[in-house]
Amino acid sequence: MSELMGRLRRQSRKITGPRAAILEILRRHPHPLTNKEIFSEMPRGRCDLATVYRAVHLLETMGMVKRFDFGDGKARFELVGGDGDAHHHHLICTRCDRVIELEKCLIRKLERHVAAANGFKAVTHTLEFFGICPACQR
Ligand SMILES: [Zn+2]
Ligand SMILES: [Zn+2]
Ligand SMILES: [Zn+2]
Repeated sequence: MSELMGRLRRQSRKITGPRAAILEILRRHPHPLTNKEIFSEMPRGRCDLATVYRAVHLLETMGMVKRFDFGDGKARFELVGGDGDAHHHHLICTRCDRVIELEKCLIRKLERHVAAANGFKAVTHTLEFFGICPACQR
């Protein structure tokens, strides 16, 4: 088990209440969820939507969840994996909202080029792909 994994485990053991429930919900879902989707899976009557917003934000600042933007104005959140490198992209079907996880980043080279060409350091990027999935083409 890596050092980071151990740290995350110890950290998450101390996490209770809504935050623990949110981590458990995200663990069951391989794709990013909105605050409302998380809320709809929370145990009934245990907390309100505002609590979910606050708890998710806190988990984000702790580096345990990562925020994604699918361009529809809703923030989506995914659990950060064991190796701590949450950088990846998604392919989203615009008809059925199916999401494919793209594990490999194909534009690290472009990122380095953009950084060097403009004298920037610590350049990062966000990128999501959209299209029509095979099932929706039929
Ligand atoms: Zn993802
Ligand atoms: Zn589709
Ligand atoms: Zn990338």
